[in-house]
Amino acid sequence: MEKIPTTLIPGDGIGPEIVKATLKVLDALESPFEWEEQLAGVAAETVCGDPLPEKTLNSIRRTKLALKGPLTTPVGSGFRSINVRLREEFELFANVRPARTFLQGGRFENVDIVLIRENLEGLYVGVEHYIPIADDPKAVAEATGIITRYGCTRFVEFAFNWAIKNKRKKVIIVHKANILKKLTGLFLEIAMEVGKKYEGQLEIEERIVDNCAMQLVLNPNQFDVLMTTNMFGDILSDEIAGLVGGLGLAPAANIGKDASIFEAVHGSAPDIAGKKIANPTALMLASALMLDHVSEADKATRLREAIDAQLTSGEGLTGDLGGTVNTMEFADNIIARL
Ligand code: NAD
Repeated sequence: MEKIPTTLIPGDGIGPEIVKATLKVLDALESPFEWEEQLAGVAAETVCGDPLPEKTLNSIRRTKLALKGPLTTPVGSGFRSINVRLREEFELFANVRPARTFLQGGRFENVDIVLIRENLEGLYVGVEHYIPIADDPKAVAEATGIITRYGCTRFVEFAFNWAIKNKRKKVIIVHKANILKKLTGLFLEIAMEVGKKYEGQLEIEERIVDNCAMQLVLNPNQFDVLMTTNMFGDILSDEIAGLVGGLGLAPAANIGKDASIFEAVHGSAPDIAGKKIANPTALMLASALMLDHVSEADKATRLREAIDAQLTSGEGLTGDLGGTVNTMEFADNIIARL
């Protein structure tokens, strides 16, 4: 099998531990990836004085594909989030976050929702400032949201196509066009217009974001795929992760024009870093999304089924899920099920 050059960023905190466990599982699966290990985050800052070195960017420019451990963003001014820089650098315009009930017996059974979030525009473009009045330098704060026809069309086309490719049935466009009539009104208008092309293939509806947030906690089983703007997607995707047991099981794919980057949704968990007890499931599920992305659906399914079986067995789990095994023992349990 021809190998696919892929950038690997172990990341900070628990990153190297969950990456090691994920690689062991991918090796057992005979994955097609050939890893180019690169530094980013605090690890890179310590070694080469730059949290996002040019060498790492060049590697992703070359491979157009990366698996990334979580990166620590130090709190405080002057340090721009590396995740945001990666999004901008590679025009990672869509963020795909599937959430599924793995552990039965929780608040909701059989939840299976994919949220697809626009990743570059909206209120997160960072165009904001203070307006001083008299002796108050922060008398007024102003932020501008930006949505472009180009960016929006590219995003909604991707989201509809993703839904079809992944055999999903219903897409709900989430917006706030009753109040933000132009900003999210344009998003809704374009999504409905583009959606006409998919008639007969997908059921397409629209819903106002606040109603959607409430419906999610009342009855999450009514939802299939949600597509929405940047900030609403940021908030709703964490809400959805909460419905299925938290961020520890949530993977994400950042799909871009120039590259695609796969990661766990959670952060670098400094409180448990180095203890070798972190749960690697989210990163393993992110690697399953990456297998789908390179058209290795069979391997992706095998990996998901092994994870599913392990989690539903209720045994051999990491501490965050009430078990006692460590990160590598969990990986070995998955390998035994592959
Ligand atoms: P976090 O997700 O790192 O941790 C929140 C809590 O969840 C902690 O108690 C942690 O121990 C636990 N946790 C997270 N992942 C776990 C896992 N795999 N197994 C077991 N327990 C797990 O969130 P935070 O503490 O707010 O952020 C820590 C750092 O991570 C910050 O610097 C933040 O900026 C960064 N961060 C990075 C990313 C990313 O790179 N994509 C995402 C979120 C946060």
